[in-house]
Amino acid sequence: MKIGIDIDDTVIGFYEDFAKFLNKKYSKNLTSSYVGKNFLNLFNTKEQVFLEVKEFVKKGLSYELAFFEDFEEVFKELNNSFDLIFITSRSFDERAKTRDFFKKKGFELDIHYVHDYPEPKKSLVCKRLGVDFLIDDDKKNALDCANNGVKVFLLKKSWNDDCEDHPNIIKIGDWYQVRDFLKNNKKLK
Ligand SMILES: [Mg+2]
Repeated sequence: MKIGIDIDDTVIGFYEDFAKFLNKKYSKNLTSSYVGKNFLNLFNTKEQVFLEVKEFVKKGLSYELAFFEDFEEVFKELNNSFDLIFITSRSFDERAKTRDFFKKKGFELDIHYVHDYPEPKKSLVCKRLGVDFLIDDDKKNALDCANNGVKVFLLKKSWNDDCEDHPNIIKIGDWYQVRDFLKNNKKLK
């Protein structure tokens, strides 16, 4: 069985560090929950949001983050039983650093970039690669995959709490619930 894993805010807290970056730069007090929920409306224009992200990324700040603790713990167990890959929407200029980040952490998984596909959709990547489950924090990705027959574990966050229910979407509070679900369904010993 193959499991696709999103990177930002699924295994590391991008919004948390981006919030810290903005707070320092603009003397604000934003929480990761607020930043995630209002991401595209943080500034007057979307372009400004992407410029801020670009600056954040350029400084290399998103490549020094720690993994979520529950991910680190559950990952080892899943890795023994499943074919795991990363699937991300990160842009082309982030690739080298992304690869180095995982290498440094001792992760040998293949990293697939949605922008390499004719349409930048995770459902397309999952279908092409035969992914059985996607683990993600983005409701758009979750619904895209769910509507295309791919099962999704959606990590509950402030920015996806209005995601509609779908038979292919399993909403989970943390990575331990991924493990428990797979165990209960006899996919994991
Ligand atoms: Mg994400």
